[in-house]
Amino acid sequence: MTQDRTRPDWRLGRRTFLKATGALGAALALQGGTLLDPFVTPVAAAESGEEIRRGICDMCCIGYCGIEALVKDGRITRVQPWADYPYGPLCSKGNSILQQVYNPERLKYPMKRTKPKGSDDAGWQRISWDEALDTIAAKFKEIKAKYGAEKVVFFVGDPKEEPRPPMQRLALKFGSPNYGTESSTCARAMQMAATLNGGGGLPITAATKTIVLWPKNPPWSMARDTWQIIEAKERGVKLIVVDPRLTQMAQMADIHLRLRPGTDGALALGMARVIINEGLYDADFVSKWVTGFEEFKAYVQEFTPEKVQEITWVPADKMVAAARLYATNKPVSWVTTASPTVHHANGVQNQRAIGALIGITGNVDVPGLKPSVPGVSVKDLTEWRQLLPPLQEKRVDLKRFPVWAELVEEIQMNLLPEYVANGELKAGLFAGANFRMWPQDQEYRKAFSSLEFAAGADFWLTPTMQLMDIVLPAATSLERYGPIRIAGRKVFLPEPVVPAVGEARGDREWIFDLAKRLGLGADFWDGNVEASFDWQLEPLKLKAAELKKQPKGVDIPAGAPTPASNNPGFSTPSRKFELTSGILQKHDVNPLPVYKEPVESPVSTPDLAKKYPLVLNTGSREPMYVHSRHRNNPRLRELEPDPKVDINPKDAAARGIKQGDDVILEGPRGSVKAKANLTELAMPGVVHIYHGWPQADINTVTGRNFDPISGFPSFKSELCEVRKA
Ligand code: SF4
Repeated sequence: MTQDRTRPDWRLGRRTFLKATGALGAALALQGGTLLDPFVTPVAAAESGEEIRRGICDMCCIGYCGIEALVKDGRITRVQPWADYPYGPLCSKGNSILQQVYNPERLKYPMKRTKPKGSDDAGWQRISWDEALDTIAAKFKEIKAKYGAEKVVFFVGDPKEEPRPPMQRLALKFGSPNYGTESSTCARAMQMAATLNGGGGLPITAATKTIVLWPKNPPWSMARDTWQIIEAKERGVKLIVVDPRLTQMAQMADIHLRLRPGTDGALALGMARVIINEGLYDADFVSKWVTGFEEFKAYVQEFTPEKVQEITWVPADKMVAAARLYATNKPVSWVTTASPTVHHANGVQNQRAIGALIGITGNVDVPGLKPSVPGVSVKDLTEWRQLLPPLQEKRVDLKRFPVWAELVEEIQMNLLPEYVANGELKAGLFAGANFRMWPQDQEYRKAFSSLEFAAGADFWLTPTMQLMDIVLPAATSLERYGPIRIAGRKVFLPEPVVPAVGEARGDREWIFDLAKRLGLGADFWDGNVEASFDWQLEPLKLKAAELKKQPKGVDIPAGAPTPASNNPGFSTPSRKFELTSGILQKHDVNPLPVYKEPVESPVSTPDLAKKYPLVLNTGSREPMYVHSRHRNNPRLRELEPDPKVDINPKDAAARGIKQGDDVILEGPRGSVKAKANLTELAMPGVVHIYHGWPQADINTVTGRNFDPISGFPSFKSELCEVRKA
């Protein structure tokens, strides 16, 4: 990197800089080859009287960047990036972590409701941890004896990395397969598509010649990946970006395919047609490693460039140019992200169609074909591979989403209202849950309230926690022990940087204590969290006590590579890359990655589109927030104070809307009020709004149109109209 990378933003003020750079936040300065926060000058601790302690950020659910906390008298005074930690630097959210840790709104003590559900005021009363955990255990035992263990659902929202494994272990040891997470609307559908095909894309390496971001905008979603792409671009790697939005990455692209949301499958099939018909596919790879090629070739013939332009709004010549570049400038690294392409009722098949491009061009590794160096791993705390199969038949999603139930070790949570209304779930334990994550979220709010008993853990007494019978105060990542972190070949075991506020506790700690009260102490190391880390670390021949002495981590030597397998192949039924999926065939689903129009669209529902002519795209990443989190963080709220509708200036002008106007976004099921943000980020005909705002809750507008394969909702392809308030 060169000093040239410093942006014109340097001339801007702090607030403007943060806002302009978004998730890159305050981390764009280059000093001595290291990315540092230009507003936090690293200090020599001895000079300031502060002690530097190291922890991990979990202000978002994916980054896990390293933080150096400067601590004085038991309190964090400020934070700075942990310069030599593998993940970082800190984005705007990470730089605002103190406003989370010491936020006066933190939930500090266990509480119980004293008034019936439905009352305006729950009458929260402070109780001890003993009383809280004894009550939860007694209720769960009662439900288990009366109805069966499977009637208790265990759920983890966000943050997720720490509570997920112990919560899943608790569910399975208790006897319930009904453990779910927010991945029911996040990454699992994308992963399902990769599993059905046989694999995902190649990583970016020095050999990469083309990067396809379909779609991803790391500056706002995964800041740490941004530089890798910028550096690749600087060494001449071609960049194709597929995204309806004119993002920062799209502005850097050699080819930007700006498509109508939800039509990714048609675009990919059109590109496949060009690649196949022009003889640009990898015939050798296809003949050895791909099944269903002839059926796929026949199917894609209907996706002519003209038809693809009509469906996707992408100019035909651009699509053709992208297909040729993809097939001829190899190796290609396809970088996808959790949910944009699968938040549609045909999401998994669309994602499979995009994945088909790596199969026909040979841009995918065949497992076991070449020698490989095994990664670093520890024992899986959940032990779901052993514990789940005997309980599989009791899953509430088994018949509703059979492909999901076969491939995913957690239940599809999106039919929670149905599970509760039918009496299939009677009680629940929720860590970081939020009813606003679901479409028509009032249904989910009702479901939480209708449970016979519910307990939750969170940093805050959120609207969802207000629906619980008992709430528990959760410790933040800087206040708790663990979890074990692996970054490359380094292993870390973060210790608390400071004592937790009030009586907040780490999730693993209180879940283990609850397990003891449920009679499961022997399965939870008798509540000894450190012993559980020792058990997980056995494969690395390490002990938690040793790791704690090494806050900068322990290097695990690579060892000898595993030789190539004598039976290499993909983990599909045919052991080949499947353009016709054997698993889908077994479940009577079309095995080809077929394209279907979104459930609501100008094409599938033209009458509805007369009243609601704009395509509604919800949930695309914004830099200051992650889902419903951080609206109470003063630093972030200052940067992004209001819910806003991103609308193209042409669409705004046609409606007499000006920048900053109050507008009503209305769909077939409801409306919200927000500020108009006129921006070229939004393509004409498409508007965007972020989810999670209590005062502009877009999930009262989105519909319950679920993908039958994954159960995912169509958050990114519905219809709406926008007018001045
Ligand atoms: S990307 Fe930002 S919020 Fe996420 S872990 Fe890194 S610094 Fe924290």
